[in-house]
Amino acid sequence: MSEDAMMGNLYQRFPVTVERGEGARVWDTEGKEYLDFMGGYGVALVGHHNERVISAIKSQADKIITVHSSLYNKTRLEFLERIIALAPKKLEQVHMNNSGAESVEAAIKFARKFTGKPGIVAMRGSYHGKSMGSLSLTFAPKYRKPFEPLLEGVSFAKFGEIDTVRDAITEDTGMVILEPVQGESGIHVAPDGFLQDVRKVCDESGAVLVFDEIQAGLGRTGKMWACDHWGTAPDILCLAKGIAGGVPMGVTLARSDIVSSISKGEHSSTFGGNPLSCAAGCATLDALTKDGLVENAARVGAELMAGLEKIAQKRSSVREVRGLGLMIGIELKVPVRDILYEGIKRGVLLLYSGQNTLRLLPPLVVSSAEAAKVLGVIDELLDAEEKRRADTK
Ligand SMILES: *Cc1c(COP(=O)(O)O)cnc(C)c1O
Repeated sequence: MSEDAMMGNLYQRFPVTVERGEGARVWDTEGKEYLDFMGGYGVALVGHHNERVISAIKSQADKIITVHSSLYNKTRLEFLERIIALAPKKLEQVHMNNSGAESVEAAIKFARKFTGKPGIVAMRGSYHGKSMGSLSLTFAPKYRKPFEPLLEGVSFAKFGEIDTVRDAITEDTGMVILEPVQGESGIHVAPDGFLQDVRKVCDESGAVLVFDEIQAGLGRTGKMWACDHWGTAPDILCLAKGIAGGVPMGVTLARSDIVSSISKGEHSSTFGGNPLSCAAGCATLDALTKDGLVENAARVGAELMAGLEKIAQKRSSVREVRGLGLMIGIELKVPVRDILYEGIKRGVLLLYSGQNTLRLLPPLVVSSAEAAKVLGVIDELLDAEEKRRADTK
């Protein structure tokens, strides 16, 4: 039987059966090579078949795979020390969970308990996950509508417009959440000054400020944290995706006074903090800090942006190129679906972000040569697309 028959029709799928990977490349069951600029939606952060991650997983598996958080474990301790040392200061305590949505759920409960206020301000264009709580903060009506009623008291301000944030905050607002670089809605980088302004507004109102860096964090944008680009920091930081080199892990970092407001048993996760993901997490942090991956993201990201700007100038189908580091969106005037399929034929896996935007989320180990090759393929794809449209007119 096919996967489709057993999994239902829940995912937009592409006709590639991936068998193995290495760095920014994957191979299918026929041995065909692809440049992986889909990057597992950002999960393949430190590259496929990363030696540090593999050896950490192997040696941890040899010792023990599961230790519940009601017992202590040295691998977990090591991960906690390292992630807190790397995190923006004041974020000194951690709730460990298993995915982005869970990381956001923890943030919602922490902010609710700490402030005693149920109101939440999120941003238009936001994506925070699809569990009922995180879905309540996700903007796209196509995801929300079928599942309403969602959490009460959520309102959406305009990303980048501080006045709309100020207007949305009421006496009942306990939390403001945003992605410093919005991923799912087409790669929108916060305009300069916006994060600092939101920080100020939250300080004045007492609302807990949450940054969702599940996609943009951990070096993706060319700095360890996306918020570092604006010299500001949140009260709670949500992480997941690539944090454990592909092993499921979510992390909610928060100020310790916020975490202290939660009593024993009020929030928990059975898998959260398991030694296997913690070992993979330590190896991932090693790869980011010792192998120069953050610097590489900044360098190759700038090369990609420059190349794409050039392509945009000569290709009439491009509306805009946006991005920071290795988080890049190419908004087209045409749907991207056919282009994604054509890319697969030419050995490049690309990602979409809504109907009209191509998204690039390659592993941070990607080389200049690989980036140049993908630029060439994107140019060819757009050329072919423009010719096809001209022919059918
Ligand atoms: C992917 C993502 C999530 C949700 O993560 P899941 O692991 O799929 O639940 C939340 N926020 C952002 C910014 C994301 O990119």
